[in-house]
Amino acid sequence: MSSGPQIFAIPLEDDAYLVYAPLHGVAFASTKGLVSSLSGVLAGGDGDESVVALARETGLLNDPPPLPVTRHRGDPSPTEVTLFLTTACNLRCTYCYASAGDAPATFMSMDVAKRAIDFVMANAERLDAPFAGVHFHGGGEPSVHWNLMTEALAYARERAGDLRIISSSAGNGVFTDRQIDWMIANLDGGMSLSFDGLPEVHDRHRPTVRGTGSSGRVMHTMRRFTEAGYPYAVRLTVTAEQIPLLPDSVEFVLANFTPTRVQVEPAYQLGRHEGEPDAETEEFIKAYREAQARAARYGHELAYSAARVGQLSNHFCGVTQDNFCVTPAGNVSACFEAFSEDNEFADVFFYGTSAPPGSDGYTFDMAALDGLRDLGVENRSFCDGCFARWNCAGDCYHKSLATNGRGEFAGSQRCHITRELVKDQILARIADAGGLIWRDGREDVPCAVHGGAHE
Ligand code: SF4
Ligand code: SF4
Repeated sequence: MSSGPQIFAIPLEDDAYLVYAPLHGVAFASTKGLVSSLSGVLAGGDGDESVVALARETGLLNDPPPLPVTRHRGDPSPTEVTLFLTTACNLRCTYCYASAGDAPATFMSMDVAKRAIDFVMANAERLDAPFAGVHFHGGGEPSVHWNLMTEALAYARERAGDLRIISSSAGNGVFTDRQIDWMIANLDGGMSLSFDGLPEVHDRHRPTVRGTGSSGRVMHTMRRFTEAGYPYAVRLTVTAEQIPLLPDSVEFVLANFTPTRVQVEPAYQLGRHEGEPDAETEEFIKAYREAQARAARYGHELAYSAARVGQLSNHFCGVTQDNFCVTPAGNVSACFEAFSEDNEFADVFFYGTSAPPGSDGYTFDMAALDGLRDLGVENRSFCDGCFARWNCAGDCYHKSLATNGRGEFAGSQRCHITRELVKDQILARIADAGGLIWRDGREDVPCAVHGGAHE
């Protein structure tokens, strides 16, 4: 593991610099001259008194806190499960990473769900955890397998006794009123909805199986959620040709609805979107900046999965933290995109199978699990000198396999987007802090997975 540099001078325009020390939790704007004097002072040389005072005041003369690196060890004991209920879907999104609907659908059985729920609840009880989690995601639209969604959660709650059960789901928002009522009453961890903003943008890429637009249904769901004060996040997926409309799309969402979080991601060139024009471009960054300016008027900071100033972690998502997702066949995957045994990277992300008939729980492939645990950003030499390293944490592992192949990580176009957006977030925090020095309040680092990189 390499510690790499911990204090960065990031060039801005017109010879200005941004000094960013993520581990010290400090950032400020600087001139080229100040950067050079500061480097001398930090290297132990003499310097102008004001520079020495700045270095002392910002804590840069102190050793940085330890690297924000954690690693799970031993047998996995997850207290939360994500059930991949089905690969069936009621939409046919043009950019669907799962190509849902193209292959015969699979559906989880109650026995598979029960085994997973029993396992995480037993772990939660044994570890005296504050709650157990039962979540729904993956490969299709979870609510399409409605009976299992409701019965699995009812089973968990019935079996729970004093143990609290938290439940959340990702979804496409095309729900009936009866389903919406149930979600509001039961999915207390909230819902992450895919909605692309302007109805014409959404409808072009997210048609129903019958080929009609789905925006009206999703907006109905959001109105119902809003009326009930129910927490939901919105994720906008941006294709190359929709980039110019991103600012209007974000404004449409925030002017009409009340999501707790708005996440924007360029469409991945996977599944049905493979071979389509790339949205990870300079134009995307420009449109994102304009969208962020509009979002700020509504008091929102947009989310982009790899730009997370204020969070320091070696984990991009749960893949490196024993994320426990169960497929309809009862196997264990760490990754939301590796939702099926025939995924190209199933050998990397699958690390368990249901234990043989007659026994409870799972049989884990510890070599596979330890391989995943080793994917933390501290082990990616390409990321060593990157100022965004502890905010980005190496980005999505599935995506890097899909773009870089199985060799050593060599970066991607997303690195440029991430660094630009991290820079923006730091500058916004300096401005909010009065324009001079920003000191990080040290937010806790949540896992990026729920509300993370994809739905
Ligand atoms: S962020 Fe990437 S690696 Fe992590 S679970 Fe999602 S698809 Fe998998
Ligand atoms: S090099 Fe790329 S993947 Fe690695 S931390 Fe930096 S932006 Fe993230």
